[in-house]
Amino acid sequence: MAQPEIVDVVVLGLGVGGEEVAGRLAEAGLTVVGIERNLVGGECPYWGCIPSKMMIRAANAIAEARRVGGLAGTAQVSPDWATVAKRIREEATDGWDDRVAVRRFTDKGGRFVRGGGRLDGPGRVRVGEQVFQARHGIVLGTGTRPSVPPVDGLADTPYWTNREAIEVEELPGSLLVLGGGAIGLELAQVFARFGVRVTVVEALDRVLAVEEPEASEAAAAALRADGVEIRTGVKAARVEHGTEGFTLRGTEDEEFTAERLLVVTGRRAHLDELGLETIGVDAGGRYLPVDDRLRVTEGVWAVGDVTGEGAFTHIAMYQAAIIVADVLDHLRRAEGGADPSGTASVVGGAVGVASSLAATGSSGSAGSVPRADYRALPRVTFTDPEIGAVGLTEEQARERGINVQVGFTQLASSTRGWINKTDEVGFIKLVADADQGVLIGATSAGPAGGEVLSALVVAVHAAVPLTQLRHMIYAYPTFHRAISEALGKLRS
Ligand SMILES: Cc1cc2nc3c(=O)[nH]c(=O)nc-3n(C[C@H](O)[C@H](O)[C@H](O)COP(=O)(O)OP(=O)(O)OC[C@H]3O[C@@H](n4cnc5c(N)ncnc54)[C@H](O)[C@@H]3O)c2cc1C
Repeated sequence: MAQPEIVDVVVLGLGVGGEEVAGRLAEAGLTVVGIERNLVGGECPYWGCIPSKMMIRAANAIAEARRVGGLAGTAQVSPDWATVAKRIREEATDGWDDRVAVRRFTDKGGRFVRGGGRLDGPGRVRVGEQVFQARHGIVLGTGTRPSVPPVDGLADTPYWTNREAIEVEELPGSLLVLGGGAIGLELAQVFARFGVRVTVVEALDRVLAVEEPEASEAAAAALRADGVEIRTGVKAARVEHGTEGFTLRGTEDEEFTAERLLVVTGRRAHLDELGLETIGVDAGGRYLPVDDRLRVTEGVWAVGDVTGEGAFTHIAMYQAAIIVADVLDHLRRAEGGADPSGTASVVGGAVGVASSLAATGSSGSAGSVPRADYRALPRVTFTDPEIGAVGLTEEQARERGINVQVGFTQLASSTRGWINKTDEVGFIKLVADADQGVLIGATSAGPAGGEVLSALVVAVHAAVPLTQLRHMIYAYPTFHRAISEALGKLRS
């Protein structure tokens, strides 16, 4: 058996979260081994956020050109998917090659190991024949993979996940999208705008079910306007594939056919592959439970989607900063400021990083490691209109027994909404805690819903008193000025 190689930190999985932790700890002077079995950077740059937003940018350009009719004369658009596919291949993913990303990590002083790794007892990680013993910690950033429902026949068909949908070079004539969550809706709208006949099939009674009902309605209306057929309350029972394409049957005998089937019904962590049992951690859950410093157990941290705290790149980055501070703080305390391992610069770095994070962190007191706080978690569904949301929905707030006030206004009734003319689908919805006099949740749907959201995130994050928000000056005529209107309508 190979002798373990002793290093400071091992990071397993170099997606968004793992790469950030590994790179920053390496920059701080630690010996860091980063292990990745696929592409450094993970899902976001190659099959997620970045290429999907490139697709959306292109589809929105088409939609905007089609709006010229009511505003500025005539414009002719001839959508061409080849331009989008080329941009994704060449500009976003380098043809799904991570050489640049690997160099980004090794240039910071990290050591890169390609391969699938697993825990091999306390402090140890194995990659094939190589074993690493981590002196100061192991960070698990292994992410998630698509969760495919156990629908009869589905597993035997060549269905798409987000990966095939992002890599597609030639569009099909028709597409069934199983799953009406954010990813399903974003991709459905893109493909529809490029001329694909798209049907979205959702088991729940509304699309975008985790958000406000008004958000679901706005998204569904917009997609329908783009020609997408939306079928809710349909539980898939069976999938068949033949020369003509896919047939999906629902439990109530509904039948849908299309050339391609895209399955986007959520994601799940694969904890059983990580060797968690070798460190006494239960691998039976859906995600890896962590505390507010992202610790799984002594000396083991987890970052990103694997923690189940919200599958967003910004969550992974947020958590990564806390882990870096905690690992360095841990190391400084363990070494008592001394330099037994020749890491004097690291100890110095620890103080610097930890204290600068505490200075910018929301919930850490000065000099302490900041604690994770998801109260003001922002999320954006990049449909057109964009749907941004932060904090609790009205229903979630009521379920918690909060004395809720709600304020709602349509963007169309604002000056900017009226000027905009073509994007009348959009609104601001505010959820306030009447006893505390602060916003605890908000949704902003509209042409720039994700950007307007930022003001609402500040309000929820910093618990800005409603009296202050009411006395703010909102620039005229902006979309965000509708926040002021919604504040004026807050009622129990
Ligand atoms: C279509 C789509 C669109 C999205 N759009 C957005 C968006 O607009 N905004 C947003 O914030 N988020 C978006 N997301 C979510 C975002 O991509 C994820 O939240 C983010 O990638 C999570 O990063 P992570 O580091 O936790 O995991 P991942 O990016 O999944 O990385 C985990 C890495 O670990 C590696 N790995 C796993 N197991 C092992 C092992 N045993 N050994 C070695 N390596 C291993 C994997 O190969 C992978 O590279 C989108 C996702 C999808 C699918």
